Amino acid sequence: MWSLPKPQHTAQETYEAAISRMRDKDLHAVYRSATGTVTAAAANYAAAAEQGLAHALLGEHFEAGAVTRKQMITLYDDRMAHPKGPARHIYNAIRARAPYDRCPSCGHRDARTLDHVLPKTKFPALAVTPLNLVPACHECNKRKGNQVAASAETAAVHPYYDSFDTDRWLHAAVEQDRPPAVRYFVEAPQHWAAADQARARHHFDGFGLGALYTAQAAQELANLEYRLGRLAAAGGADGVRDFLQENADSCRHARLNSWQTAMYVALSESDWFCDGGFKLG
Ligand SMILES: [Zn+2]
Repeated sequence: MWSLPKPQHTAQETYEAAISRMRDKDLHAVYRSATGTVTAAAANYAAAAEQGLAHALLGEHFEAGAVTRKQMITLYDDRMAHPKGPARHIYNAIRARAPYDRCPSCGHRDARTLDHVLPKTKFPALAVTPLNLVPACHECNKRKGNQVAASAETAAVHPYYDSFDTDRWLHAAVEQDRPPAVRYFVEAPQHWAAADQARARHHFDGFGLGALYTAQAAQELANLEYRLGRLAAAGGADGVRDFLQENADSCRHARLNSWQTAMYVALSESDWFCDGGFKLG
């Protein structure tokens, strides 16, 4: 759910790059005839997305003129996503927008691919539209599949148009077990629109972020045990808490809604954890 800057390449230059260097002149002419349709579709999509209404668009309005659905999908697969495709440089530029090469949906795994916000099978005219393409990891891309949101509450969080990073919505709680565990949950601020609060929860559940982050936190808790033991020996629970708070501040400074920020905040706020709860066994 990270925000990303919009891609710099326009829909038209991307489409023209994708259809360039085509040996079959007749086929090229068919593709070229759809240039206006594709650029108009991109403009309509951008206008809707700007208002948070991309989910309300209908696929039947996004056919690509004389170019068939299959031909548009092939255009993306063979001429934009393919490593030797003429529009691959634009694919790479979009993917390179992911901070630290991380997938903006999970904030954790490598952004190895691009995901179509509106699927190319249902919205063929947007198959190579940069604003419809966001960096993603394979897992998140697979989880999302070809789904189109049925309502505003389930609309995917759009990295180019939504800014869910400005408020804290990802929280964690310490489970008082041996070994200790961290569980994650979503609690969006009350001043958010109800639909956005629902979208944050839907995103968290749909991408399986709770289990992913709990597993990461478990590994981090194991790394911390020795250090916290030394701090406790020197300064008691206060020494542990100070260290955790400082880490929380530092993580928050980097990213408000990372699993690390939520974890360190929860750990530092848990008296049980600071007072020896950090011991794994
Ligand atoms: Zn991901």
